[in-house]
Amino acid sequence: MTAQSRKPIVAANWKMHTTPGQARDLASQTVAAIPTAARAAVEVVLCPPFIALEGVRDAVEGAVPLGAQNMYWQAEGAYTGEISPTMLVPWCRYVILGHSERRQYFGETNHDVHLKVRAAFAHNLTPIVCVGESLAQREAGETHAWVALQVREALHGVSPDQLATVVLAYEPIWAIGTGKTASGPDANTVAAMIRELVAAIGGDTAAQSARIQYGGSVNGTNAAEFLSQPDIDGALVGGASLKPEEFARIVGAAI
Ligand code: PEP
Repeated sequence: MTAQSRKPIVAANWKMHTTPGQARDLASQTVAAIPTAARAAVEVVLCPPFIALEGVRDAVEGAVPLGAQNMYWQAEGAYTGEISPTMLVPWCRYVILGHSERRQYFGETNHDVHLKVRAAFAHNLTPIVCVGESLAQREAGETHAWVALQVREALHGVSPDQLATVVLAYEPIWAIGTGKTASGPDANTVAAMIRELVAAIGGDTAAQSARIQYGGSVNGTNAAEFLSQPDIDGALVGGASLKPEEFARIVGAAI
């Protein structure tokens, strides 16, 4: 499979923004801003806050799939405040796991991400697994080693069939919400390394179908630089996904 045959995937991570009512409006405006042909060519995923999932599902009327921004790995139990895979299945096809904000502010480890990835697959949710290095790690030349460790620890034990469907988001932490971005070729080098790791874990066929996104201050102006790279199959978008027209431009750049 080549980059041309992998369907691009552009996901909107609304983070902790929007009340349920605002989320419904934003979802309707976002779908309206993206031409139908673009939605056919690009998989567009909306990831609102948990409590907005039902309203957003109703607002988009099946036009785009939904994702959650996190989940716990247990199916149910005494885990106050957590959301399980079984709770997400009615609304979501995707779940973002291991976002750097979860790792940074909530102490998520590679092992936690691994347990969540396994739980997602066990419940037929497709994980969007986030990996990426800090500025200090980049400056110390540790990007590849660090990202490789995150990928290996997240994905070990995942079957080749599951790996073929996984989405990995390469998000340099220093580029998230900062307005700074990696260069397209730099981001592609890391994406290519991630694809090689997926091949080492699950074989070439899985690696050629797995989709790899870039994330970190992607906007309508810079999206093409990333989305034109051979190993980058889409984008995970934070800030710009809160602006329907801007987000639609990013989706347009993925075609
Ligand atoms: C993100 O939330 O994953 C992200 C990349 O955010 P931003 O686009 O705002 O940098």
